[in-house]
Amino acid sequence: MSDMTFTLTDEQRALKTAVYELCKQYPPEYWRELDAQREYPEAFVPELPKAGYLAALIPPEYGGAGLGMMEAAIILEEINHSGGNAAACHAQMYIMGTVLRHGSEAQKKLYLPKIATGELRLQAFGVTEPNSGSDTTKLQTTAIKKGDRYVVNGQKMFISRVLQSDLMLLLARTTPVDQVKKKTDGLSVFLIDIRGLKGLEVRPLRMMMNHSTNALFFDNAEVPAESLVGQEGKGFAYILDGMNAERILVASDSLGDGRWFIEKAVAYAGQRVIFGKPIGANQGVQFPIAKAHMAIEAADLMRTKAAKLFDAGLPSGPEANMAKYLAAEAAWDAGNACIDAHGGYGFAEEYDVERKFREARLYKTAPINNNLVMAYVGEHVLGMPRSY
Ligand SMILES: Cc1cc2nc3c(=O)[nH]c(=O)nc-3n(C[C@H](O)[C@H](O)[C@H](O)COP(=O)(O)OP(=O)(O)OC[C@H]3O[C@@H](n4cnc5c(N)ncnc54)[C@H](O)[C@@H]3O)c2cc1C
Repeated sequence: MSDMTFTLTDEQRALKTAVYELCKQYPPEYWRELDAQREYPEAFVPELPKAGYLAALIPPEYGGAGLGMMEAAIILEEINHSGGNAAACHAQMYIMGTVLRHGSEAQKKLYLPKIATGELRLQAFGVTEPNSGSDTTKLQTTAIKKGDRYVVNGQKMFISRVLQSDLMLLLARTTPVDQVKKKTDGLSVFLIDIRGLKGLEVRPLRMMMNHSTNALFFDNAEVPAESLVGQEGKGFAYILDGMNAERILVASDSLGDGRWFIEKAVAYAGQRVIFGKPIGANQGVQFPIAKAHMAIEAADLMRTKAAKLFDAGLPSGPEANMAKYLAAEAAWDAGNACIDAHGGYGFAEEYDVERKFREARLYKTAPINNNLVMAYVGEHVLGMPRSY
């Protein structure tokens, strides 16, 4: 730990600039129009595998860039920092860790090279259900083995990018909860090909932001037995294994949002003249922006520490969770400071602030609510009694 630095290497700085430059080819009007139409960024997303960015975490032997969590974090942060929305493609980065760590050699050889080139998209992650929410072990979707197949039945809620993805990582119960020792046993992960999967109905949900989110209905959907990832019944542990990566990457989405808000607010506060001077000269406008900037910088330190611990193969749970919480809160505060600085224009679509504000809000709630991050810190970091 003593040699851990928080400055980026030359290569990481170059990556940051390159991602930002690529993203700048997609101007605010592009994202605004998609938001208005609730459409997926079909032109932007393929640029990322083309540049090797979405394959950052895939090892070279499977056609990826073999980079670390810090690089993956930089990529997502810069997409949001540029004014775009990394939610269109961020899941691939944190889902594929489960396949890498627990998938069979055959699964890795079959899927990872194609995911690396962008030929296949693994953007859908099916965990949440209408009746279980944050309490994942209570999920009711079942996958029952019948010969060489599993038959899937149940409902999923808020599952994003299903219509834009070829593959989905699905968590389902393979052994009823009353037949297992621990409620975390008996859940299994499947890597399923959802292209034209019979028995899967997808109902798009119109959300506050453009997020390609859906309700799913599995009605005797049959998937090949080889779709199982790792051992049957161990799926919950596999998903938990991927949580630190998810937290670090989502924190990076938020940091990018926060930086965008601050730059936008500073620029506007410097040029908008009211009562004969730039509004940014007033402490009532300036201080919330300065405060949000400090919070973003502090959250960045925690995110960077978490990513570096992760890349060093050291435990990073507390840091990854704290980074997710701090970055989501800091981005939200930066969003409010940005809206306040813009006055009425903060609510006008053509300024993009209201769009980013809606997008940034999500990360206080999903993929895990900040309440549950506090519960994790209270219980696992500070040793206080369990609340649930
Ligand atoms: C736009 C969007 C996209 C999403 N995409 C996906 C996806 O792709 N895949 C997927 O699987 N899921 C996805 N989700 C679901 C998301 O992960 C869940 O919404 C989230 O995990 C919370 O579950 P819930 O909404 O059922 O809330 P609930 O679990 O019902 O919780 C409701 C509220 O109660 C609080 N609460 C519950 N228990 C406690 C407790 N013990 N202590 C303190 N507070 C508590 C929560 O923090 C929350 O504020 C998405 C959600 C959204 C909004």
